[in-house]
Amino acid sequence: MHGIIQLLPDHVANQIAAGEVIQRPASAVKELMENAVDAGASRIQVVIKDAGRTLVQVSDNGCGMNETDARMCFERHATSKIRQAEDLYRIFTKGFRGEALASIAAVAQVEVITRRAEDEVGTKIVIEASKVTQQEPVAVSAGTTFSMKNLFYNIPARRNFLKSDAVELKHIIEEFQRVALVHPGIEFSLSHNGDEIFQLPGGNLRQRIVQIYGKNFNEKLVPVEMESDLVKVIGFIVKPEFAKRSRGEQYFFVNHRFIKSSYLHHAVQNAYLNLISTDQHPGYFLYMEVDPARLDVNIHPGKIEVKFEDERSVYMMLQAAVRQSLGKFNIAPSIDFTDDHSIQIDTGIHKKGPVNAPRIHVDPEYNPFHAEAKKSAPVAVQDTLLDDLVDWKEQSVLEKETELIQTLPQTGITRLFGPYWMVTFDTTCMILHARRAKECVLFYRLQKQLAQHELPSQQVLFPENIVMAETDAPVWESSADVIRSMGFDFAYIGDRTWEFTGLPAGLPEQTRAEELVEDLIGALRETGEIDRHQVVEMLLSQLAYRMSLGAIKADEMQVIVEELLSSPTPTHTPAGLITFVYLTKEELEQKFDR
Ligand code: ADP
Ligand code: MG
Repeated sequence: MHGIIQLLPDHVANQIAAGEVIQRPASAVKELMENAVDAGASRIQVVIKDAGRTLVQVSDNGCGMNETDARMCFERHATSKIRQAEDLYRIFTKGFRGEALASIAAVAQVEVITRRAEDEVGTKIVIEASKVTQQEPVAVSAGTTFSMKNLFYNIPARRNFLKSDAVELKHIIEEFQRVALVHPGIEFSLSHNGDEIFQLPGGNLRQRIVQIYGKNFNEKLVPVEMESDLVKVIGFIVKPEFAKRSRGEQYFFVNHRFIKSSYLHHAVQNAYLNLISTDQHPGYFLYMEVDPARLDVNIHPGKIEVKFEDERSVYMMLQAAVRQSLGKFNIAPSIDFTDDHSIQIDTGIHKKGPVNAPRIHVDPEYNPFHAEAKKSAPVAVQDTLLDDLVDWKEQSVLEKETELIQTLPQTGITRLFGPYWMVTFDTTCMILHARRAKECVLFYRLQKQLAQHELPSQQVLFPENIVMAETDAPVWESSADVIRSMGFDFAYIGDRTWEFTGLPAGLPEQTRAEELVEDLIGALRETGEIDRHQVVEMLLSQLAYRMSLGAIKADEMQVIVEELLSSPTPTHTPAGLITFVYLTKEELEQKFDR
């Protein structure tokens, strides 16, 4: 009698397994690049066509394979990297499950051309739907070239699932950068449809970061280095003054592997406490090394998340390492870290120049160094003090009762301290965060204006040239017309460089195009492929934030309060931060009821 259980045919099983490993062209880029690194290559070239849909090709000058291995490597669980389960704990190489090539071969047409240095001829093998369709000896230089063609040609549903070229290419570039950032000694190149995107000669880590993110990154980096029995941390962090309002360059690597960890991110963010405002993100490139036996890297199919045996200690260590570097930077801001030929990790403090307070242009209402110098309560603490003094309202209640305030006659307006202003009404008192309130008001003004016509532009005295990162250029291009309609005037002048000649009118005087563009790019990165309306909202909210910076005068405040209270959502900024708190007469009476 037949049961109902059947074994899946191999090609189906392979396709299913492949779904885990190869989700999009970028996954193949990662796996093939990592294999090339494992093969000991000193030069790795990545060639992409149509954002990886039609071709992902990775060539290396590594150890190559003999004929048998060239066939074997496509078998599931075929790996030269482990022999038994215990090996998993010792493994230092990238892949170790012998799954990548089998997966790729299940969902694309694959060609491998390879030769070991010691062999006279090389081997070429073509595979389609996991079947070898062609094999022949070839004359090639030593090393290996894998070509993955027509990804998902046999699984239309998955092919349709791929995003736009700009998005897929962005993912590819991200994976490329992650591998390139862990192997600064290896020469890498990346091209797309014949255009060279990256050409990275081998060098040290600082040089690699600068190669990828541009020359101006050099001065932004501060080295980090700390070691304990458990973990060694090296790398660079970005100086607080260059923190961004969007998540920018945030990289953790563990044992030469890129990982994501919100837990460890928190450790770093915490180390920056009081150095950047809460809506800013620190940049970092942090490389951790731990005993592989104390690490489980295999918990996630994409191998992006890891589990440390002693996560808490790693957290503490990481935070301490970042704090230490920030400390060094604060006491000696004049240290010259710009020497391009510096050793890989430079932690030395060479100069004891005059100690200047680091220049930080962030939130003007927020001066961490002032707080630091006096060792007095930083702003965050002030906030909680305020919270304790009065039982400030829950948000939902606040929203409802705002309607009430709107009907009350206003009786006065006073500046308190920091960003706080007090507005009194007949029977209620309200404390406003002036900058946030202004941001909120400006957002609605801009929105209304843009609904009718383009936002006014103001020509700048000195045009600014801005070089954009590879990943950002296509994102910028795709929203260029929207950005122009918001008062930006710019033109592409080649070499990933845009010249900015006009900015939206109404920005604080010293606003530089670079800061704005950084904000916008950050916003665009976050919204990605989402609809136009959302992109516009996001960009407008960035603009409103920028325009809200700077001192606010009392008469201006009056207008802001009026506009705020008649706006659709007065209680929050577009970014979701609360704009005011308030206290009614009854509540006050209750407080004095003893
Ligand atoms: P894994 O990397 O986990 O071992 P893969 O499926 O990625 O599994 O690769 C299977 C095997 O093919 C590898 O273990 C290695 O022996 C061989 N291989 C893959 N890529 C290369 C390459 N570029 N050069 C030499 N050998 C390679
Ligand atoms: Mg591999």
